[in-house]
Amino acid sequence: MAPRRVVIVGGGGAGDAAAFSLRKQGFDGEVLILSADTDRPYDRPYLSKEFLRGEIEEAKVYLHDDGEYSENRIELRLQQRVTGGSLAEGRLQLASGPDVSFDTLILATGGTPRRLPDAPRTSNVFTLRSLRDCQALRAGIQASSRVLVVGAGFIGAEAGASARTLGKDVLLVEAAPVPLAGALGEDVGKVYAGIHSSKGVDVKTGTKVKEWHLSGERLVGVTLSDGSRQETDLALLGVGIDPNIELAAALGLPIEAGGVAVDPGLKTADGVYCAGDIAVHQHPVLGRAIRVEHWEVAKGQGRGVATSIAREPTPYSTLPYFWSDQYDVSLEYRGQASGSAQLVWRGDREALKFSVFYLNGGLVDAVLSVNDGKTNEAAAALIQARRRVDPAALEDLSVDLAQLAGAPAS
Ligand SMILES: Cc1cc2nc3c(=O)[nH]c(=O)nc-3n(C[C@H](O)[C@H](O)[C@H](O)COP(=O)(O)OP(=O)(O)OC[C@H]3O[C@@H](n4cnc5c(N)ncnc54)[C@H](O)[C@@H]3O)c2cc1C
Repeated sequence: MAPRRVVIVGGGGAGDAAAFSLRKQGFDGEVLILSADTDRPYDRPYLSKEFLRGEIEEAKVYLHDDGEYSENRIELRLQQRVTGGSLAEGRLQLASGPDVSFDTLILATGGTPRRLPDAPRTSNVFTLRSLRDCQALRAGIQASSRVLVVGAGFIGAEAGASARTLGKDVLLVEAAPVPLAGALGEDVGKVYAGIHSSKGVDVKTGTKVKEWHLSGERLVGVTLSDGSRQETDLALLGVGIDPNIELAAALGLPIEAGGVAVDPGLKTADGVYCAGDIAVHQHPVLGRAIRVEHWEVAKGQGRGVATSIAREPTPYSTLPYFWSDQYDVSLEYRGQASGSAQLVWRGDREALKFSVFYLNGGLVDAVLSVNDGKTNEAAAALIQARRRVDPAALEDLSVDLAQLAGAPAS
């Protein structure tokens, strides 16, 4: 029987998608979103790209107009932090205000940017997660000529690329010898670092901030582990997130590998589902548990949870997918590679138009594409097919990927 009242904790990509998808799929009971954020749900990826650069208006950043919540009978309560509760009693406790009851619960609490323990908390040292963070950073970048970005992961690199596009001097400091080597492999990481250098970003890999220099209440420079002193007007810390799992832990839900363990249908306990950055999902196609910090995955999982609630328990089998735009380079990634993947390249590395396949035991687990969206799309069938492929055929541009995945010759 469908529940009467679904409560969603988190007004981000996953929570918002779950609410609207419940309605789309005919759920007729109450839908309530409790969000700690000050603003109604917005498109987070814009915050390191178009909105940070001032290319789009604020109105375009929101996922829905204010009125769409009431039209769809979705109650959205902002600035409501859930701190605990009882699953047995179907009750949530808020930081302030009376308890909230639920029949079915969806947790989509996302993540919090990490800080470096010794980084100063001055007004010109930023992290980037919320719309408010972005507005403050944007104003900071506009007023600066030298921008220091610590961490060359996706957020740091994208925000750095945006600052560079705005004509700022950007210093990108990365502790690892090659950025994103863990996620994408060393050779791809090198190509990626090269893109930033070619655009005039000063990329310093294998380098850490050793000392932070203040003048009054402002950061004015850093000393790096290579001994150099660098002046700066502003710093952005892009050193990853910690998934917000405190609430799940307080509710007694299973915590695993830094997230909340969910089954193939995204369920973590009777009547409790998780989606987005916090979910450690037993993926039915890949056959292992994965936790992914990407927008389309968060939204897709939100919709997947809604299907299980509004219709019937359904495994969520969509492959993870993300994109990242930096300068004129479009990067797409589908699937999820494990640490020990064999890399097979297809296309032209020099011309920045190629794809890389990540194989495990002969099966394609993931594909990364740079300015090569068609190959990325075609590779979905290869990942889904779970059949061994010949690396030489993958490399060969004359070989049709659809046929490798088992489709009949056209
Ligand atoms: C600047 C930026 C750029 C990005 N760009 C890309 C991109 O180009 N491509 C891509 O694939 N991914 C990108 N991402 C990642 C993507 O945005 C995240 O993976 C996605 O937002 C995760 O969705 P979520 O719903 O799990 O969490 P979030 O979107 O973080 O939402 C979590 C929500 O939960 C609320 N919350 C947390 N704790 C509580 C609590 N206790 N009580 C009530 N509410 C709570 C928060 O206020 C927030 O509203 C980017 C992220 C950032 C920050």
